[in-house]
Amino acid sequence: MSTVATLCPECETELSLPPLTEGETVNCPECLLTLRVTHLEQGRVELELVEAELRDWGQ
Ligand SMILES: [Zn+2]
Repeated sequence: MSTVATLCPECETELSLPPLTEGETVNCPECLLTLRVTHLEQGRVELELVEAELRDWGQ
């Protein structure tokens, strides 16, 4: 019903997002990176960089 506030993991800009579902992606208006919703709780969203996922995590 209401927007959720979260921080961009890259530039730490505060983002106000409409209700999302897990796996959805949004673009940060500040750094223009694509972020995917990894976890959703009421009033709280965790984001990760989609680009980071394409890189080697060092496994
Ligand atoms: Zn950003």
